[in-house]
Amino acid sequence: MLQYKAPIMDIKFLIEDVFKYYSHYEKYPEFAEATPDLVDAILQECAKFCENELLPLNQSGDKEGCKFDNGVVTTPKGFKEAYDKYVEGGWQSLSHPLEHGGQGLPPSLGMAKQEMMGTANWSWAMYPGLSHGAMNTIQTHGTEEQKELFLTRLTEGTWTGTMCLTEPQCGTDLGQVKTKATLNEDGTYDIVGTKIFISAGEHDLTENIIHIVLARLPGAPEGTRGISLFIVPKIQVDQQGNLGASNNVTCGAIEDKMGIKASSTAVLNFDNAKGVLIGPENKGLECMFTFMNAARVGTALQGVCASELSYQNALLYAKERLSMRSLTGKKYPDKVADPIIVHPDVRKMLMTQKAITEGGRAMIYYTAQIVDQIEMAKTEDERKAADDRLGFITPILKAFLTELGSESANHGMQVFGGHGFIKEWGMEQIVRDVRISTLYEGTTGIQALDLLGRKVLLTRGKSLNAFSKEILGFCKDKSMISSNPHKRQMNKFVWALSKNVANWQQYTMRLALKAKKDRDIVGSASVDYLMYSGYIVMGYFWAQMAQTAYEKLAGDVENRDFYRAKIKTAEFYFERLLPRTKSLAKTMMADPKTLMQLDQDLLSFL
Ligand SMILES: Cc1cc2nc3c(=O)[nH]c(=O)nc-3n(C[C@H](O)[C@H](O)[C@H](O)COP(=O)(O)OP(=O)(O)OC[C@H]3O[C@@H](n4cnc5c(N)ncnc54)[C@H](O)[C@@H]3O)c2cc1C
Repeated sequence: MLQYKAPIMDIKFLIEDVFKYYSHYEKYPEFAEATPDLVDAILQECAKFCENELLPLNQSGDKEGCKFDNGVVTTPKGFKEAYDKYVEGGWQSLSHPLEHGGQGLPPSLGMAKQEMMGTANWSWAMYPGLSHGAMNTIQTHGTEEQKELFLTRLTEGTWTGTMCLTEPQCGTDLGQVKTKATLNEDGTYDIVGTKIFISAGEHDLTENIIHIVLARLPGAPEGTRGISLFIVPKIQVDQQGNLGASNNVTCGAIEDKMGIKASSTAVLNFDNAKGVLIGPENKGLECMFTFMNAARVGTALQGVCASELSYQNALLYAKERLSMRSLTGKKYPDKVADPIIVHPDVRKMLMTQKAITEGGRAMIYYTAQIVDQIEMAKTEDERKAADDRLGFITPILKAFLTELGSESANHGMQVFGGHGFIKEWGMEQIVRDVRISTLYEGTTGIQALDLLGRKVLLTRGKSLNAFSKEILGFCKDKSMISSNPHKRQMNKFVWALSKNVANWQQYTMRLALKAKKDRDIVGSASVDYLMYSGYIVMGYFWAQMAQTAYEKLAGDVENRDFYRAKIKTAEFYFERLLPRTKSLAKTMMADPKTLMQLDQDLLSFL
């Protein structure tokens, strides 16, 4: 049976000490309510809800899965009751604006809530999670009328939302979308088409579901320039939000999948369903991109959640499972054998999981502050500056953290030996559940092309330079080379980091030059480049955490072991994980020829 205790001490270390959330909140009068007392109370209550209500449904939800019967989808036992408690507790509205029934707390605080819920039960958390995407779209692009009608119910949680992009012929290449929208005399549109793989597309948790749908108007330009965005409710609603007749949105099937079995993944048929346009005609994809980065940070979180859950359980097991003796002599002579945690290889797996989890969490909580800045920006310049930073870091977070989340889940399973492969323990479920995170919301390959192609090469390295400057600024901080012995200990991190950042810039320049001669270099280098960038970015946050831990230990602080553990984990990261950049550098600079020279007809001789 899977165990989970919310890592509140670690979350508070990040929000209070490393990223100083409270001084960040003070800059915005709208966040005046987000005081340490209130935030503490929210974290504690959220932890209780996740540990007591959501975790017990994690494995049973996987076993039972969602059921489909003649268009009706039933979620696993207990899901609806947990959802009702979630709504009663006001959790959905926590970090949404006051005007439409939200509590007005910062999005960054919402991220801590999402982390705990997603770790306790990712499949369950996807139902309210998808609503956030729909809400952000309506908040940013909806008319006042649309906000009043749809946003209020979504914020309460009495309705949920979806994002309907994918069709049978296209997921990545949305320029191929075929769903049609035709204008009616009353200003509504008739939507006709089929969407597949729609998370939370049909379920029994709420009375209505609000679909955000990509479709084409008659005569719209081909490709991505001819796609518009529509709000299409499952059940028709009048101006007061009263439910009417069915809106001809039917669920044709749900997918039988590898993981996240308790999250319904629906085929939706829109058969002259009534919808309203949101945002300008033919600008649907642009509208979606305005919040896509935030949604992708939410998916990056799945990697951290899986890693945390797997690590907590692997650690408990490694302390109890007895096998052979430590190479340096018996550690528990009174027992028939030593627990496996004494073996360096098991330690390596556990330390890797710990470094990925805590490093990944730091990357997410840093980025969550940028999301706050975008939401609170008073001028377009301010918004754009924050959006550029988010745009650069998002593909790194999304792909790197989900790939590492998968790696970590596999380590956790390995720690259990053969028992990891047996369902009862839940470790193989974590491996299955996290696997989707590298695929949806843009595959790793697509995130990598976005990073190297659009965010780095197309901007001539502008966003990379800005981020490198921030890291180098941290490295050059005079306090690092002060005579204070605690601060001097930072040097080992700072040297490695500065060297890696200098290489990052150089390799990028070399790739840019190569790309002028051979465009295939972008596609052949991109995934390695993204992972390379990810290790450096994570290194930056490990160095920051180590620095904060040294500062804490220099004072009179409680829980000294917590800070010592941070420093030791940072040392592990710099010694064992950051060096992966070396092999990635080699492969990303390799000639694309070895990938492409073998004629596709010669790839197999069957
Ligand atoms: C469980 C689940 C839930 C989902 N939830 C939703 C949802 O709520 N809403 C929604 O709209 N969609 C959803 N999706 C769809 C998901 O976002 C897509 O499956 C994903 O974007 C990939 O699209 P595809 O499956 O069509 O793969 P394809 O686009 O066919 O890609 C196949 C492979 O080719 C690669 N590839 C494609 N184009 C390129 C290129 N130009 N360069 C390099 N490589 C390329 C890809 O990286 C991938 O490896 C979900 C999918 C699943 C399985």
